[in-house]
Amino acid sequence: MEHFCNCEKTDCPLHPKNHDKGCSLCIAKNLKTHEMPSCFFNSIGAKDRPGDSYEDFARAVLNLRGEEK
Ligand code: SF4
Repeated sequence: MEHFCNCEKTDCPLHPKNHDKGCSLCIAKNLKTHEMPSCFFNSIGAKDRPGDSYEDFARAVLNLRGEEK
């Protein structure tokens, strides 16, 4: 069964296509750097973003709702 990851950065060594550890390597990296995995941005349709921080994700969600100030 193909992994459900929708991240388009398939050259990334942490991408599930490049090892057999599923999301573990990606999540471990993102927890360490305080960033959100690409799949979350993709799931809300936020492809263009300044970065992957928790704050960038929160802004992307608020932008979708028209609540960003
Ligand atoms: S957590 Fe990382 S590896 Fe897992 S689906 Fe999301 S982007 Fe892909």
